[in-house]
This record gives sequence, C-alpha cells and structure tokens, in this order.
Amino acid sequence: MSHAPRVTVVEDEEALSVLLRYNLESEGYQVETILRGDEAEMTLRDNVPDLLILDWMLPGVSGIELCRRLRQRPETERLPIIMLTARGEESERVRGLAVGADDYVVKPFSTPELLARVKAMLRRANPSVLSHILKVGDLVLDRQQHRVYRTDKEVHLGPTEFRLLEYFMMAPGRVFSRSQLLDSVWGPDIYVDDRTVDVHIGRLRKAINLGNSTDPIRTVRGAGYSFG
Ligand code: CA
Repeated sequence: MSHAPRVTVVEDEEALSVLLRYNLESEGYQVETILRGDEAEMTLRDNVPDLLILDWMLPGVSGIELCRRLRQRPETERLPIIMLTARGEESERVRGLAVGADDYVVKPFSTPELLARVKAMLRRANPSVLSHILKVGDLVLDRQQHRVYRTDKEVHLGPTEFRLLEYFMMAPGRVFSRSQLLDSVWGPDIYVDDRTVDVHIGRLRKAINLGNSTDPIRTVRGAGYSFG
C-alpha cells in the first residue's frame, strides 16, 4: 500500500529481525528486512524507505560504516536512521551519532520503546506521513474519507489516481521516476509498464485540473514527475 510508511530493518539476528517485522507490521508499517550490511547498501541504492533501523554489528559492511556511506549519498543523506547496538558505552553512542545516525537504541530494548521512537522520528522527518489530511497548495486529500478537494471543490478520482496523488502529496517537490512510482503505487510485484504510469498521470491531471488554470504536476524530462 502506498500510504503505509516504509521501514527497512537491517539486522543479522534472525529472531530479532522477525520480531521487529512482526511488531512494525502490526503498527501498519510496510517492512523490509535485510540480514547483511552489503546487501542493505545495494538495496538502499534504488529503494529508499521512510526510515531505517540499522544494527551496528553486521556481516558484509558494519552498520556504522553503512550509516557513514548512506550520509554521503544525496538520496539517503536525510533518511531517518535509528541504530541498534549491544554496546551501551557513551563513546560508542557518540560515534554512532557522529556518523549520522539520528537516534540510538541499546540492546536489549523494549519493543514499545523502539516503536515509539520510530513513530516520533517519522513524524519529525515527514509530518504528512502519519496524518490523515494531506494539504499541498490548494489541494486537500483526506485519507480516512478517501476524498480529494481542490479549492474546496471535491475532485473525483479512481483508486489508482487517488494513490498516485497521495504518494505525490507525501513528498511535494520530489521528482519520482516512473519505476519508483510503479513500485510504490502499484507495488513491486505487479507487472505493468512505464506507459501505464503516463496514462494514470494523464487521468489524474485531467481530474484535478478541471476548472483550474494551474497544473500542480510537473513532467521532468528524462526523469519522471514531481508534484507541488
Ligand atoms: Ca548484529
């Protein structure tokens, strides 16, 4: 589902990884678990979640090294990262934060505590990711009621156009490639081609621009689309 915040967990202790997945999914997050640091580095190249939970000691590339590398890349420069570690010493904590982790949880931790931190961090990083009403410019999208308004007039959208608009409104100004939109709005397991994205963008534009003179959707040549 496009509107569930996406959390990636990089943790090589399989039991803990399973537990985290279970608890995060119960809270409504879309969860991906990865067991190795090097594998996480590759996956995070094309697939940036809303938040990363990163273990310190990992095979392949260590959590601390991975965190440092992620901060050097523009796509993951601002990705919220919570580091997990068995070491509780102050010097290690300082080191974790120095390489760019946003928060730090010492094992063994309580699951409700970690979930509370995840929620707080998501809210801080992207307030719209957890709220029911999204507002960008003169557009308002109500996730609970599944309704969209432009300048207070209701806009009627099909389910795919609704999800597309919701996805755009969660990150105004960000440019999304067609394949990113396919993965996030249609889902990675569904096979449709890039042209499908253009067709639905066309329908979305037609619906939201009816009776309005400005088009909030921008076509970025060679890159994709952005909104707002
Ligand atoms: Ca570990």
